[in-house]
Amino acid sequence: MRSTLPTVRRTRGGSDPLATVRNLGILAHVDAGKTTVTERVLFLTGATHKRGEVHDGTTVTDFDPQERDRGITIFAAAASCDWAGHRINLIDTPGHVDFADEVERALRVLDGAIAVFDAVAGVEPQSESVWRQADRHGVPRIAFVNKLDRAGADLDTAVASIRRRLHTVPLVVQLPIGREDGFTGVVDLVTMRALTWADGGEVQDGQVPGGLLDEARRRRRLLEEAVAELHPAALEEFCARSALREPTLVAALRDLTRSGEAVVVLCGSAYRNRGIEPLLDAVVAYLPSPLDVPPVRGSVTGRHRDAEGVEDRTAERPADPAAPFAGLVFKVTSTATGRLTFLRVYSGTIRKGDTVLDAGAKRSERIGRILRMRADRHTELEQAVAGDIVAVIGVKASRAGATLCAASAPLVLEPPSVAEPVVSVA
Ligand code: GDP
Repeated sequence: MRSTLPTVRRTRGGSDPLATVRNLGILAHVDAGKTTVTERVLFLTGATHKRGEVHDGTTVTDFDPQERDRGITIFAAAASCDWAGHRINLIDTPGHVDFADEVERALRVLDGAIAVFDAVAGVEPQSESVWRQADRHGVPRIAFVNKLDRAGADLDTAVASIRRRLHTVPLVVQLPIGREDGFTGVVDLVTMRALTWADGGEVQDGQVPGGLLDEARRRRRLLEEAVAELHPAALEEFCARSALREPTLVAALRDLTRSGEAVVVLCGSAYRNRGIEPLLDAVVAYLPSPLDVPPVRGSVTGRHRDAEGVEDRTAERPADPAAPFAGLVFKVTSTATGRLTFLRVYSGTIRKGDTVLDAGAKRSERIGRILRMRADRHTELEQAVAGDIVAVIGVKASRAGATLCAASAPLVLEPPSVAEPVVSVA
């Protein structure tokens, strides 16, 4: 499948493979369409070959029978997929308020998230509470206003509720083409191209329809003004040229997303397969890689002194494959394959057969096999490095929330509750 924003894609990358990883969650109020968005993402990225439908209980992320029966997402599942040369590790987070602990654990291992809203209901109470949780964890977000095909759907009203109820600055980067049942596409206000979806779901990239040109220009102008107000480099260019060039706009949107100062808003209809490609492009363009977030902190046991000789019982672990290994267990589940321990590797490298330390329980654990989970299958890995999200077989007793680390460099990871995302100024 092809990406819709080649210009944005070219601005990302770099030689470090970690720069092309996105550890992503999808946050939403129940029924906003999180499962459908997840499905469409997995389908488009080739991670699943059969499109599941929520109503007939065949979706691949809601795999638990109890969950299917109740129609809500109870358990977080992780799946890796690929888009535009990037690996997206998708961590499903429960939308139901009864599972706040699971959401909390998932938020610890995410670097960024898509918040899904219903275009008719706007911001609902649970979206608000999950938004605050994500704020506490410093997780940068982009917003996807879903169900634009529904009667009564209105992007502007939904955006107003995002501004009012979430106390954030929404930066709307698309203009819908058509309303409700006639919603067929979007004008991308960054590239000023029209993206339309045929009934089969195939995306077409074309010129902005003449009738929408003035409105698209007006909204692009509003976007530029809002960005310039928040971003010093953008303001400088805006003052000098009375407009923002596309690369400056993209870089500023990326910085503002990562610093949490604003939220890029996209829209679509997941059910009708409209809007998912640009959403994935935005994930790649704006949300951070493991390199762009601060190193995790942990508490160390025993006496440690820093360079000045002051006792320091905390340590940082950078997202570096060569650093001592540290990872966080965020979910444990039993499957036919065995006990699967889902692990976010923050630093270092683990290899098949390694013995590691459960630092809190002071117990050794063995990394028997390492699996990259896809939606409907898995791949065996020889090793996993900093930034990875994998499932491990062989860990016998470590629970969700446990830190696994190199025995030579023990530490217990702290929840990154006050961590501020790093801003990379263009
Ligand atoms: P979740 O609870 O957030 O995971 O939401 P689901 O993905 O299960 O969606 C809830 C309901 O809304 C289901 O019946 C979906 O088929 C429906 N739905 C999801 N996306 C759309 C959309 O874009 N348009 C419309 N009209 N319905 C949708």
